[in-house]
Amino acid sequence: MTQAICFNCGEIKFGSFTKCDKCCLTPASDDDEVISFLLTDHFYEIDELKKLSNRIKNGAAIDISEEIKQQVISDIKDVRDKLESKS
Ligand SMILES: [Zn+2]
Repeated sequence: MTQAICFNCGEIKFGSFTKCDKCCLTPASDDDEVISFLLTDHFYEIDELKKLSNRIKNGAAIDISEEIKQQVISDIKDVRDKLESKS
């Protein structure tokens, strides 16, 4: 399963788009989903994720360039298309 961190509170969780056990937030908007998708072990080593987790817990914003954002949005669409074609 995907190791991820919550885009809102920085808590370690499993799965990009799952509800956070700590702050009970589920990614809803495109921006939320992009950040959640990036904050996983697909993109970062666990050590990096832990650093990002601490940054979010300290209130730092995670900056994502527009280019990466667009790339991730299309990646998410691809994943969704594959999931839907399977079921
Ligand atoms: Zn959270």
